[in-house]
Amino acid sequence: MYQLFKPSLHAQRHDFVVDFVRRNKPKKVVDLGCGECGLLGRLRFNHQIALLIGVDLNGAKLRKKMHGLAPLSADYLQPTFDQLCVQLYQGSVTQKDARFRGFDLVTSIELIEHLRLDDLEPFTNVVFGYMVPQTVIISTPNSEFNPLFPGLSGFRHSDHKFEWTRMEFQSWALNVCSEFGYMVEFTGVGQAPPGQEQRIGFCTQIGVFHRLMVDRVGPMFGDNAENNYPYTLVYSVTYPSLCDDNILRRILVSELLFCAEKLKKEWLEKLTDKLEEVNAVEKDETGGECGEIFWSNCQEPQCHNLHRHVSVALQLLCTCCPKLRELSRSLSNLRRLIVDDPQIKMNRERSAVILCCLEQGDEEPNDLTDSGYAERSHVEEENWEITC
Ligand code: SAM
Repeated sequence: MYQLFKPSLHAQRHDFVVDFVRRNKPKKVVDLGCGECGLLGRLRFNHQIALLIGVDLNGAKLRKKMHGLAPLSADYLQPTFDQLCVQLYQGSVTQKDARFRGFDLVTSIELIEHLRLDDLEPFTNVVFGYMVPQTVIISTPNSEFNPLFPGLSGFRHSDHKFEWTRMEFQSWALNVCSEFGYMVEFTGVGQAPPGQEQRIGFCTQIGVFHRLMVDRVGPMFGDNAENNYPYTLVYSVTYPSLCDDNILRRILVSELLFCAEKLKKEWLEKLTDKLEEVNAVEKDETGGECGEIFWSNCQEPQCHNLHRHVSVALQLLCTCCPKLRELSRSLSNLRRLIVDDPQIKMNRERSAVILCCLEQGDEEPNDLTDSGYAERSHVEEENWEITC
C-alpha cells in the first residue's frame, strides 16, 4: 500500500506501545496477533518486563521469526539483575487459555479487523472477561482515513474482514467497557493533513482500556481450575540474569580473579624493594629461602616460607572493587557463591583467595594447606555486610 507516513504507520503503532510501556512499567505483557514479532522484539529491551508473550494463529510465522527474540551476545557477556522470559504461543484469540490471566498489559495491534465479525464477541469475552488484564491497547484502521490513500478501493488489506469508522470503533469499545468494567481513552497514530485532523481523525485508531475494579481479577489470578490450555507453546527463552546463581557465580568469579590479580600485581610491584630488604634480613637470620607474601588483614604484607603465593582478603577485594561489591551484595554471599568454584583457591577460613605468584612454566607449588599461612589469615569480617 502507498506509504503516507514517515516513520511508517507500522513503526508509529509500535512506538505508541513502547512509549506506553516505558511510562507504565507493566511486568507481564501479552501481544495478541503478534505476527512477525516486531513489537515483541522492541519490548524485550524494556527492563521491567519479566514475562513477554506473543500469540498468533499462524504458527509458521512464529517459527520463522522466533529466533530474532533470542538473547544477544551482550546479554550473556554483561547480564543484569533483570529477569525476562519470552514465549510464543500458537492459538486463536477466540479461545480461553488459563495461562493468560492476570497480565498487566494485553496488546492487540491491527488484529481485530482480521477476525470474522462473529469472532469479535468471543475475542472480547476472552480478553476482557477472562484474561481481565489491567490494561488493553487495541488498534485498528480508521476507515474515514481511507479516501486519503491514493488508488485505494475497498479495505486496506485483503484479509481485513471489516474496517470501522471512529464512531463504530468507539461504540464497540464503550459497550465493552460497560459490560466488563473498563474505561477507555481514544487516540491514534498517523496524523491527517493539517486542517483535516478533526474531520478525518488518525489513520490508525487506538483504544487504551483501563480496568476499573483493581481486585476483580484477584480470585481468578493463577486459578487454573479449568485446566484449559488450548494454545501451543512454540518458543520459550529465559534471558541470562544475575538472579540465576550459576550466572552470578560465573561473572563474580571472573570479576574477582581479575581484581585479585590486579591487586597482586600492584602490590608486588610496590613491595619489590621492601621484599628485597626483608629477604636480605631473613637470609642473614636463617641463611635460607626468601619469604612468601601474605596480606593478613588487607593492609600489611607478611612473609612466610616459600615465595610462591599471595593471599588476598575477600573484604579487601570488595572494598577495592565496586562491581564485585555490587554483584555480591554481602561478603557472606560472595563467599557462598565462590567457595566451590574450581577456579578459586581459598584459605582454610575462607576469608581470602590465594593466588599463585609463579610465572607460567615455573614449577607448581606444594599443597597450599601445608604452607602454614592459613592459620594466620583470619580476618575479622564475619558480620561484615556491604550495603549497595
Ligand atoms: N500485530 C502485528 C504487528 O503489529 O506487527 C501484526 C498484525 S497482522 C496485521 C495480524 C495478525 O493477526 C496475523 O499475524 C494473523 O496471523 C493474526 N491473527 C489473525 N486471526 C487471529 C486469531 N484468531 N488469533 C490469533 N491471531 C490471529
